[in-house]
Order: sequence, then structure tokens, then C-alpha cells
Amino acid sequence: MTARILDGKAISARIREEIAADVAEFVRLHQVTPCLAAVLVGEDPASEVYVRNKQRACEKAGIQSHLHRLPADTSEAQLLDRVRALNQDPQVHGILVQLPLPPQIQETKILDAVNPLKDVDAFHAENVGLVVQGRARFLPCTPHGVMQILHRSEIPVAGKHVVIVGRSEIVGKPLANMLVQRDSHLGPQAVNGTVTICHSRTADLPTVTREADILVAAIGQARLITADMIKPGAVMIDVGINRTEDGLVGDIDFAGVADVAAAITPVPGGVGPLTVTMLLRNTLTAAAAQQG
Ligand code: NAD
Repeated sequence: MTARILDGKAISARIREEIAADVAEFVRLHQVTPCLAAVLVGEDPASEVYVRNKQRACEKAGIQSHLHRLPADTSEAQLLDRVRALNQDPQVHGILVQLPLPPQIQETKILDAVNPLKDVDAFHAENVGLVVQGRARFLPCTPHGVMQILHRSEIPVAGKHVVIVGRSEIVGKPLANMLVQRDSHLGPQAVNGTVTICHSRTADLPTVTREADILVAAIGQARLITADMIKPGAVMIDVGINRTEDGLVGDIDFAGVADVAAAITPVPGGVGPLTVTMLLRNTLTAAAAQQG
């Protein structure tokens, strides 16, 4: 193996220390503790784990978190009522509705009901629009995590061809919008990419991925990206999380690709830890904005 391992866990730990210090300073200045309300509908085991991780991370950073559990047969109207109550609660600074929601509930309807000022996942249409225009209120957590890994590993994006495989609303599309901006809070080197988005209908995926200086895989298919699909010396960011008989694996065939790429994020321990970390940052940002 020749590729440098981009240790997301270590990067995440450093950022969480920074956030914890910022939270402590915020509490000292305002006598207010940032508070995240998490809404969990039903008993999806993966969602249970994600929410528990988020709550634990909040606690360690000095952020309060409240879990609102609703049964799997909750109606859309009942969930909307809960969201509206949280919107109006001055003690709550950030609201996160854990996805996926049960089939009787339309996700976009719920996400658009969250007060945009408390929308720490940045899923509300207003916040998506602000990201596209390069004046984000909150950066979406997983794409922001990808930016932080690259930035803190001293891998510039400016001028590079970034190929993103996956066009989801939570990873592919927002990341593309972020990396094409002229400037960012991490400076111009962290953005200014030339970005291509691929998806399930892309004709001849390998021809496109071989053009990538930086390849981001956000597909949800175990080891889809193989060594023959990449340019030697490229940087590999693996967002995928797939449960297989061998345990958790990414969308990139780590063992094969690590002999060809310059750098690669592992799964687990790559992008995953950063997602929760950036949620903590957004909760503090929300609390600060609500102090007036
Ligand atoms: P999604 O299912 O919403 O989107 C998957 C995308 O992959 C789609 O746009 C689809 O067009 C594309 N795709 C599917 N098959 C393809 C193929 N053969 N060739 C090219 N493109 C193809 O997924 P998502 O929500 O963006 O998640 C993607 C993966 O990332 C999943 O494994 C998910 O678990 C993981 N994920 C991880 C984190 C994290 O914190 N690390 C956060 C979000 C998602």
C-alpha cells in the first residue's frame, strides 16, 4: 500500500476540541448552553445508533441535547406539530429530524417546516439556496466534513478536477455546489474546483473517474470504485458506508485503490466521524445567531 491514509477520526477529534473550547467560551459570555433537539420517529436500528452518537458527541462538547421519540405510526400532522413546537421553543437552538422517516410522512414537507435559523442539517430549501449562492448560514454536515478533511490534510481543491459520484441532496449535490465557489471560510484553496457529478445514469463511469484529481464516492454500493477506475496519484474520499459480511466497507475498493492513489480515507474512520462533528459546529453557530 502506498497511499497516505487520511485519518478522519484524528481530524474530527481535533475539530471537536476546538468546538468544545468555543462552546465553553460561548457559555461564559452568554450564560446560555447551546441546545440541540433530535427527533427520532420509529425504531430504525441504524437511526438509533446515529442519534445516540450525536447525543454523546453533544454531551462531550458541552452542548445540551434532547431526544424527542415518536412512534413509527406518527402522522405527518403530528410530526409537523412537534417540529413547530421546537421552532418556537427559545431553549432549543438546533433541530435535527433523523432520516429516513416512515413512508406515511413526506420528508421534504417536514424539512421545510423546520425554522431555517435552527436547521443545523442545512436541509431546508432556504439554506440549500444560500449554500448554492455561496453565502451559507449552515454548511451541510457531510460535505463540510469532506472539505475539512481535504483542508486539514493540506490537499488544495483549487484548480483540481473533482469528480463526485452520487447526486444525493445530502452529499453529492451540496458538495458540488460548495467546491465550485470562489471562496470559503477555509480560504480560496479549499474551493475553486472544477467539478463533475456522476450518477446511476452516467454513461461510461470509469472514463470520467479516471479524469479525477480528487474522487469523492457517495454511492452506497460496496467497493464500486476499483483501482482500474482511477488516475494514479489521485486523492480518494470515500463517503460510502456499506454493511457487508466483512463488516463496514466504503464505496471504494480500499485494498486495490490504496496501491494506486496518493491518499485515501478509510471506512470506518474517514468521513463518518466528521459528519457529527460538523453538526456540533452548526449547533453552536445557531445558538450564537439566536443571541441577537
Ligand atoms: P443516495 O442513495 O441518496 O444516492 C446515491 C447516489 O449514487 C445516487 O445519486 C445515484 O445516482 C448514485 N449511484 C447509484 N449507483 C450508481 C452507479 N452504479 N454508478 C454511479 N452512480 C451511482 O445516497 P447518499 O445518501 O448520498 O449516501 C451515499 C453513501 O454515503 C451511502 O453509503 C451512505 O450510507 C453514505 N453516507 C455516509 C455519510 C457519512 O457520514 N459518512 C453521510 C451520508 C451518507
